[in-house]
Amino acid sequence: MTRIYLSPPEVGAEERRMLLEAFDSNWIAPIGPDIDAFERELADRVGVGHAVALSSGTAALHLGLLLVGVGAGDDVLVPSFTFVATATAVTYLGANPVFVDCSPSNWAIDPDLVAEELAGRARGGRLPAAIVTVDLYGQTAEYDALKALADEYGIPLVEDAAEALGATYRGRPAGSLGTVGVFSFNGNKIITTSGGGMLVAESAELVDRARFLATQARDPFPHYEHSVLGFNYRLSNLLAALGRAQLRGLGSRIERRRAINQAYRAALADQPGIRFMPVAEYGEPNWWLTCIEVDPEAFGADREQIRLALEEVDIEARPTWKPLHLQPVFAGAQTVGGAACADIFEHGLCLPTGSALSEGELLRVVETIRSVPG
Ligand SMILES: *Cc1c(COP(=O)(O)O)cnc(C)c1O
Repeated sequence: MTRIYLSPPEVGAEERRMLLEAFDSNWIAPIGPDIDAFERELADRVGVGHAVALSSGTAALHLGLLLVGVGAGDDVLVPSFTFVATATAVTYLGANPVFVDCSPSNWAIDPDLVAEELAGRARGGRLPAAIVTVDLYGQTAEYDALKALADEYGIPLVEDAAEALGATYRGRPAGSLGTVGVFSFNGNKIITTSGGGMLVAESAELVDRARFLATQARDPFPHYEHSVLGFNYRLSNLLAALGRAQLRGLGSRIERRRAINQAYRAALADQPGIRFMPVAEYGEPNWWLTCIEVDPEAFGADREQIRLALEEVDIEARPTWKPLHLQPVFAGAQTVGGAACADIFEHGLCLPTGSALSEGELLRVVETIRSVPG
């Protein structure tokens, strides 16, 4: 029996063909026709004007925050319940993440807490420079409420859609819902370039500026001339070719991950004390990861016992994100609430959800979980 991973990459003949085509064309650089095409195709898929391919989702967050005006000493509202990269990008700029709890109804940043925090800060004249939202585990945040707040206070909204390519909010694609949107093509995401990211926005000016900064901020001279600080953040053309092939298969990947989610629900429906991550009525997730919450009293075993039982038979499962306000690296950061995401962390587990997961493998996961209590 082979190990079952949480969310491994799935590549096939099309990926191989397009990668080798790029290789044979000798465009083995962070420029080339596949970069341009990947940017165009992704922007079209997401329904935004412009996109720039970058070396990672973290790089995209860094540039996105910088370009909406975040700088040293600023405060930025960030959900506590997310992967660390959402907040490290804030710290790279010398700004301070202010961690906001999630709403139990969708696990995303709680608009009511954001409203309270903004009202208090407006009175004190200390508004944050940006609000970062995260479309967690492939489901968008509650954007009607969040955008209304961002508009009311004139604060830019950075959408971290790293996990949510292909999801929608009231019919609108994830990534198109903020001032800028960010995607990741890390190996575990719904599509991958082995490593990579994309920054998207309606504004051509903003995306052009991101492209300039990501290419060492080279001023237009024949020699190397630099008047501002840049970064080396571009994606290679080879990886863009891989990304184009993956993007073509996005629809079937979403379909497969949705079927996996439904199969887990059906197979565990009779188990007391197991709840699935709530699905909000306002949108359609991309079903990136299937996550459960375990009530140890009702189920007869806790989250960690399930995880260890799975590991015992070579199945990878992971606790849900450990809230950032509980991370040692962010000790001392301001926190708004925090009990809701701490509770989900204590009880939450992400199950293997890779698009190549077979029926037999899914059965192995389910049987193992069912065997844990008693
Ligand atoms: C994966 C991820 C990132 C970072 O993307 P990388 O491409 O790995 O740098 C950022 N935010 C969230 C929510 C993620 O899941």
